[in-house]
Amino acid sequence: MELLKDRGVNGVFPFHVLAKPAGPRCNLRCAYCFYVEKEEELCSGDAPAFMSDATLERFVQDYIASQPGSEVPFAWQGGEPTLCGIDFFEKAFELQRRTRRESTSLTPSRQTAY
Ligand code: SF4
Repeated sequence: MELLKDRGVNGVFPFHVLAKPAGPRCNLRCAYCFYVEKEEELCSGDAPAFMSDATLERFVQDYIASQPGSEVPFAWQGGEPTLCGIDFFEKAFELQRRTRRESTSLTPSRQTAY
C-alpha cells in the first residue's frame, strides 16, 4: 500500500488500457477465442465495422487527460488490430501527437495472437 501511495500524483494513479479497435470482427478465428462469437451481438445494424473516428478521438483525448504520469502507454489489441488499416493508425498517432502534453511521452504497442 505504501508503494501505491508513493506513485500517485494528486491521488491519481497511472493505469493501462487495452484498446480493441477491430473488436469481434477479428478474422484470425483462434479456437479458444471468446470474442469472435460476439460479432453478431456487437456489430449488427448501423454499428461501424471498426472503432469510429468519434470514438477514437474521444478515447485518445480522455485517456491522455486521465494519465497523471509522464508516460502514456497506448496498447492496441485484438481482435486483430491491423484489420483497421494504416489510415486508422495514422489518424490515431496524429491525434496522440496533437493531444499529448509536452512533458509526456507516448509509448505505442500492438498485441496480436500471431
Ligand atoms: S486474435 Fe484475439 S480476438 Fe482474434 S480470434 Fe484470436 S483470440 Fe480472438
